[in-house]
Amino acid sequence: MTTAILSALPEEQSSLLQHLAQPQRVMHAGRAFWRGDWHGRSVVLALSGIGKVAAATTATALAERFGVARIVFTGVAGGVGDGVQVGDVVVAQDYVQHDMDASPIFPRWELPGYARIRLGCDAALSAMLLEAVSAYVESVRGLFDSKLITNQPRVHHGLVASGDRFVSAAVEAQGLRTALRDAGHDVLAVEMEGAAVAQVCHDYGLPFAAMRTISDRADDTAHVDFPAFVNTVATRYAEHIMLSFLQKL
Ligand code: SAH
Repeated sequence: MTTAILSALPEEQSSLLQHLAQPQRVMHAGRAFWRGDWHGRSVVLALSGIGKVAAATTATALAERFGVARIVFTGVAGGVGDGVQVGDVVVAQDYVQHDMDASPIFPRWELPGYARIRLGCDAALSAMLLEAVSAYVESVRGLFDSKLITNQPRVHHGLVASGDRFVSAAVEAQGLRTALRDAGHDVLAVEMEGAAVAQVCHDYGLPFAAMRTISDRADDTAHVDFPAFVNTVATRYAEHIMLSFLQKL
């Protein structure tokens, strides 16, 4: 039973690679996949690329070529929900594509052919991930020395939105959130890949779970906050959380 750990950006993946024993690099579909052993667990590390199509290709390759048993996503996202701050972690309960709109043929945000707006993550796998995330965030409370985090980190579990846009204006983030909330979908965070991976996993019957460390507030300073955060904070979170998560499998 191989577990795939999917990251969006190379920086996010670099800290995970160091733990891989007998790493074997496999090139497929123009991507590098790292097969190996992580503390006795068989894993494949992969990069989703940025955006829904790139992520769907990687997820499909993980299912078809590598025959993985489950996919776990670790990455960063912009916080849009109330109280979802930089340094917090969101574990996805389900996903919506905020840029899916085939109206008036289908209701706005509905996935044509799926008769639904949201796709859920695997409950058992997400519960394990939530446990690993909560334990880590608890352990660093008050200890994390990054100037990039001004509040005590907190953990959230709920709806995440994906779309092919880096949301970097407060007015856009608010508009996106309000429109979805008015339709009963209260979004915690926005990113660019998770919903696509959730859809591929749904199609292949693969359990999927995702955690996103909040790197920015999807507002006018999002592009400034983002790079420093990925390098200094998100990589450490991903490394520690994946380590304890894999031990729970
Ligand atoms: N500057 C980066 C690209 C950033 S794209 C580079 O040099 O490659 C942003 C990535 O982080 C995406 O993978 C997305 O999933 C996530 N993300 C973080 N904040 C986001 C936001 N405010 N809006 C959309 N995606 C965000």
